[in-house]
Amino acid sequence: MTARQLLCAAPGCGKTFEGKRPNSKYCSDTCRKRGQRSPGGAAAVPAARPAARAPRRRKTQVAAKTRQELMKARRLSTSDGELALVLAEQIDQGGEGGAALAALSREYAAAKERALKNAKSHDPAQKLIDKADQKIAAMDEVGERRERRTAGAR
Ligand SMILES: [Zn+2]
Repeated sequence: MTARQLLCAAPGCGKTFEGKRPNSKYCSDTCRKRGQRSPGGAAAVPAARPAARAPRRRKTQVAAKTRQELMKARRLSTSDGELALVLAEQIDQGGEGGAALAALSREYAAAKERALKNAKSHDPAQKLIDKADQKIAAMDEVGERRERRTAGAR
């Protein structure tokens, strides 16, 4: 029978030892005293404890949400709607921070505002736009086909 290798829980000790009892925490009496004195003394952990993962950058969903907003307002297939979406995708891709992101966000907000401004009007072309919006919604996230369609329609 082999005892488990445990890492001593006393601060600054760092020794591994054979845990003779399941609840062993310290390698020696000295360490036990030290550990019990320290505030919130850590519990013994297996020696091969995996390192904590570094926090990842949060993935944003500006493009997905913009698409929903524009679709609701039936403005997804307008040029400003397209622009807002393209900018949103760039924001989602991240990489750039600071001033570049701020400028991007401003352009995006302006384009979206223009796209949504006339959302209440009902022109005869609206039916066509609705159809186009539904098509776009069914399409992928990339938007290559969207660009091609826009180029053809204008
Ligand atoms: Zn120790």
